[in-house]
Amino acid sequence: MEFDSFRGILFDLDDTLIDFKQSEQISLHNCYRAFFAEKVGFEAFEKQYTQINRALWKAVEEGKCSTTHVGQERFRQLADLFGVPFHSKVPLYYEQQLVQHATWISGAEAFLQKIQRQKIKIGYLTNGFSHVQQSKFRNLGLDRFSNILVISEEVGVPKPHPAIFHHALQLLGTKAEETLMVGDSLVSDGQGARSVGMKFCWYNPSRIPPPDWTPDLILTQLSS
Ligand SMILES: [Mg+2]
Repeated sequence: MEFDSFRGILFDLDDTLIDFKQSEQISLHNCYRAFFAEKVGFEAFEKQYTQINRALWKAVEEGKCSTTHVGQERFRQLADLFGVPFHSKVPLYYEQQLVQHATWISGAEAFLQKIQRQKIKIGYLTNGFSHVQQSKFRNLGLDRFSNILVISEEVGVPKPHPAIFHHALQLLGTKAEETLMVGDSLVSDGQGARSVGMKFCWYNPSRIPPPDWTPDLILTQLSS
Protein backbone atom coordinates (compact mmCIF):
# COMPACT_ATOMS: atom_id res chain seq x y z
CA MET A 1 0.00 0.00 0.00
CA GLU A 2 1.42 3.36 -1.03
CA PHE A 3 0.55 6.82 0.17
CA ASP A 4 -0.55 7.94 -3.30
CA SER A 5 -3.35 5.38 -3.26
CA PHE A 6 -5.16 7.75 -0.85
CA ARG A 7 -7.01 10.96 -1.71
CA GLY A 8 -6.46 12.38 1.75
CA ILE A 9 -4.20 12.00 4.76
CA LEU A 10 -4.94 13.14 8.30
CA PHE A 11 -1.86 13.68 10.45
CA ASP A 12 -1.66 13.60 14.21
CA LEU A 13 0.55 16.46 15.47
CA ASP A 14 2.25 15.63 18.78
CA ASP A 15 5.05 13.07 18.44
CA THR A 16 4.11 12.46 14.81
CA LEU A 17 4.95 15.78 13.07
CA ILE A 18 5.94 17.82 16.15
CA ASP A 19 8.49 16.66 18.70
CA PHE A 20 6.27 16.89 21.76
CA LYS A 21 8.39 14.74 24.08
CA GLN A 22 11.35 17.08 23.80
CA SER A 23 9.30 20.25 24.30
CA GLU A 24 7.52 18.63 27.24
CA GLN A 25 10.83 17.77 28.87
CA ILE A 26 12.21 21.30 28.56
CA SER A 27 8.92 22.90 29.62
CA LEU A 28 8.58 20.69 32.69
CA HIS A 29 12.13 21.54 33.74
CA ASN A 30 11.51 25.25 33.39
CA CYS A 31 8.17 25.07 35.15
CA TYR A 32 9.73 23.09 37.97
CA ARG A 33 12.53 25.65 38.41
CA ALA A 34 10.10 28.57 38.39
CA PHE A 35 7.46 27.23 40.81
CA PHE A 36 8.30 23.94 42.55
CA ALA A 37 12.06 23.69 43.11
CA GLU A 38 11.95 24.85 46.74
CA LYS A 39 9.51 22.15 47.78
CA VAL A 40 10.48 18.97 45.91
CA GLY A 41 13.20 17.31 43.85
CA PHE A 42 12.78 17.22 40.08
CA GLU A 43 12.52 13.44 39.84
CA ALA A 44 9.59 13.27 42.26
CA PHE A 45 7.96 16.25 40.56
CA GLU A 46 8.27 14.69 37.10
CA LYS A 47 7.02 11.32 38.32
CA GLN A 48 3.90 12.83 39.87
CA TYR A 49 3.28 15.07 36.86
CA THR A 50 3.45 12.06 34.53
CA GLN A 51 1.00 10.05 36.65
CA ILE A 52 -1.48 12.89 37.11
CA ASN A 53 -1.28 13.97 33.47
CA ARG A 54 -1.76 10.42 32.18
CA ALA A 55 -4.78 9.85 34.43
CA LEU A 56 -6.40 13.12 33.33
CA TRP A 57 -5.90 12.46 29.60
CA LYS A 58 -7.29 8.94 30.08
CA ALA A 59 -10.37 10.49 31.68
CA VAL A 60 -10.66 12.80 28.64
CA GLU A 61 -10.46 9.84 26.23
CA GLU A 62 -13.18 8.11 28.24
CA GLY A 63 -15.37 11.21 28.14
CA LYS A 64 -15.17 11.73 31.90
CA CYS A 65 -13.58 15.18 31.80
CA SER A 66 -12.94 17.95 29.29
CA THR A 67 -9.64 18.84 27.64
CA THR A 68 -9.91 22.38 29.06
CA HIS A 69 -10.05 20.95 32.58
CA VAL A 70 -6.71 19.09 32.17
CA GLY A 71 -4.56 22.21 31.73
CA GLN A 72 -5.42 23.69 35.13
CA GLU A 73 -6.19 20.53 37.04
CA ARG A 74 -2.83 18.79 36.61
CA PHE A 75 -1.00 21.74 38.17
CA ARG A 76 -3.66 22.22 40.84
CA GLN A 77 -3.12 18.61 41.93
CA LEU A 78 0.67 19.01 41.87
CA ALA A 79 0.47 22.21 43.91
CA ASP A 80 -1.74 20.48 46.51
CA LEU A 81 0.57 17.49 46.65
CA PHE A 82 3.74 19.52 47.22
CA GLY A 83 2.23 22.30 49.33
CA VAL A 84 2.76 25.05 46.76
CA PRO A 85 0.04 27.71 46.41
CA PHE A 86 -1.79 27.21 43.12
CA HIS A 87 -1.93 30.08 40.68
CA SER A 88 -3.34 30.07 37.14
CA LYS A 89 -0.07 31.55 35.88
CA VAL A 90 1.57 28.12 36.40
CA PRO A 91 -0.36 26.28 33.65
CA LEU A 92 -0.14 29.38 31.49
CA TYR A 93 3.64 29.50 31.83
CA TYR A 94 3.93 25.79 31.09
CA GLU A 95 1.81 26.09 27.96
CA GLN A 96 3.83 29.07 26.72
CA GLN A 97 6.96 26.97 27.18
CA LEU A 98 5.43 24.11 25.18
CA VAL A 99 4.78 26.48 22.28
CA GLN A 100 8.18 28.13 22.51
CA HIS A 101 10.07 24.82 22.42
CA ALA A 102 8.00 23.02 19.79
CA THR A 103 10.12 21.71 16.92
CA TRP A 104 9.61 19.41 13.94
CA ILE A 105 10.09 15.68 14.19
CA SER A 106 13.12 14.89 12.04
CA GLY A 107 12.05 14.51 8.40
CA ALA A 108 8.44 15.62 8.96
CA GLU A 109 8.63 18.84 6.96
CA ALA A 110 10.14 17.13 3.92
CA PHE A 111 7.62 14.34 4.28
CA LEU A 112 4.72 16.81 4.10
CA GLN A 113 6.29 18.44 1.04
CA LYS A 114 6.38 15.04 -0.66
CA ILE A 115 2.72 14.37 0.16
CA GLN A 116 1.82 17.84 -1.10
CA ARG A 117 3.63 17.21 -4.42
CA GLN A 118 1.56 14.05 -4.83
CA LYS A 119 -1.59 16.25 -4.67
CA ILE A 120 -2.97 14.34 -1.71
CA LYS A 121 -5.23 16.42 0.54
CA ILE A 122 -3.67 17.06 3.94
CA GLY A 123 -5.35 17.73 7.28
CA TYR A 124 -4.28 17.75 10.93
CA LEU A 125 -6.20 16.01 13.71
CA THR A 126 -4.93 16.54 17.23
CA ASN A 127 -5.95 16.03 20.85
CA GLY A 128 -4.90 19.11 22.75
CA PHE A 129 -5.48 22.66 23.84
CA SER A 130 -6.75 25.01 21.21
CA HIS A 131 -4.41 27.94 21.91
CA VAL A 132 -1.33 25.73 22.28
CA GLN A 133 -1.95 23.74 19.10
CA GLN A 134 -2.93 26.86 17.11
CA SER A 135 0.29 28.60 18.18
CA LYS A 136 2.48 25.64 17.25
CA PHE A 137 0.63 25.38 13.91
CA ARG A 138 1.44 29.05 13.17
CA ASN A 139 5.02 29.01 14.48
CA LEU A 140 6.05 25.96 12.48
CA GLY A 141 4.20 27.10 9.35
CA LEU A 142 2.01 24.00 9.11
CA ASP A 143 -0.45 26.15 7.15
CA ARG A 144 1.91 25.86 4.14
CA PHE A 145 0.53 22.36 3.70
CA SER A 146 -3.06 22.69 4.92
CA ASN A 147 -5.41 24.98 6.80
CA ILE A 148 -7.48 22.06 8.04
CA LEU A 149 -6.62 21.87 11.72
CA VAL A 150 -9.04 19.91 13.90
CA ILE A 151 -8.39 20.24 17.66
CA SER A 152 -10.23 18.16 20.24
CA GLU A 153 -10.79 21.08 22.61
CA GLU A 154 -12.66 22.93 19.85
CA VAL A 155 -14.68 19.93 18.68
CA GLY A 156 -15.65 18.88 22.21
CA VAL A 157 -14.67 15.22 21.88
CA PRO A 158 -11.15 13.76 21.54
CA LYS A 159 -9.69 11.01 19.38
CA PRO A 160 -10.46 8.06 19.34
CA HIS A 161 -14.11 9.19 19.38
CA PRO A 162 -15.59 8.57 15.89
CA ALA A 163 -17.28 12.01 15.86
CA ILE A 164 -13.99 13.91 15.63
CA PHE A 165 -12.84 11.71 12.71
CA HIS A 166 -16.14 12.27 10.88
CA HIS A 167 -15.75 16.00 11.45
CA ALA A 168 -12.19 16.01 10.06
CA LEU A 169 -13.21 13.92 7.04
CA GLN A 170 -16.01 16.35 6.29
CA LEU A 171 -13.57 19.28 6.30
CA LEU A 172 -11.08 17.35 4.18
CA GLY A 173 -13.82 16.42 1.71
CA THR A 174 -12.79 12.78 1.36
CA LYS A 175 -14.48 9.52 2.27
CA ALA A 176 -13.19 7.39 5.15
CA GLU A 177 -12.09 4.54 2.88
CA GLU A 178 -9.94 6.84 0.71
CA THR A 179 -8.26 8.56 3.69
CA LEU A 180 -5.27 7.51 5.77
CA MET A 181 -4.64 8.46 9.40
CA VAL A 182 -0.95 8.84 10.30
CA GLY A 183 -0.15 8.90 14.02
CA ASP A 184 1.96 7.53 16.86
CA SER A 185 -0.90 6.44 19.12
CA LEU A 186 -2.41 3.01 18.61
CA VAL A 187 -5.46 4.02 20.62
CA SER A 188 -6.37 7.60 19.77
CA ASP A 189 -5.09 7.52 16.16
CA GLY A 190 -5.24 3.82 15.33
CA GLN A 191 -8.44 2.60 16.95
CA GLY A 192 -10.17 5.86 16.13
CA ALA A 193 -9.33 5.61 12.43
CA ARG A 194 -10.34 1.96 12.25
CA SER A 195 -13.67 2.65 13.96
CA VAL A 196 -14.75 4.91 11.08
CA GLY A 197 -13.32 2.75 8.28
CA MET A 198 -10.10 4.66 7.63
CA LYS A 199 -6.75 3.00 7.08
CA PHE A 200 -4.05 3.62 9.69
CA CYS A 201 -0.34 4.26 9.35
CA TRP A 202 1.46 3.82 12.65
CA TYR A 203 4.42 6.13 13.17
CA ASN A 204 6.59 3.98 15.41
CA PRO A 205 10.12 5.43 15.64
CA SER A 206 10.93 3.53 18.86
CA ARG A 207 10.08 0.25 17.13
CA ILE A 208 7.65 -0.85 19.81
CA PRO A 209 6.39 -4.39 19.14
CA PRO A 210 3.12 -4.24 17.18
CA PRO A 211 -0.19 -4.81 18.94
CA ASP A 212 -2.47 -7.83 18.51
CA TRP A 213 -3.92 -6.15 15.43
CA THR A 214 -1.85 -5.03 12.47
CA PRO A 215 -1.79 -1.40 11.38
CA ASP A 216 -2.15 -1.04 7.59
CA LEU A 217 1.24 0.67 7.33
CA ILE A 218 4.13 1.17 9.76
CA LEU A 219 6.77 3.90 9.47
CA THR A 220 9.83 4.00 11.71
CA GLN A 221 10.97 7.30 10.23
CA LEU A 222 9.51 10.09 8.15
CA SER A 223 11.53 10.43 5.00
CA SER A 224 11.05 12.18 1.71
MG1 LIG B 1 0.58 11.85 18.98
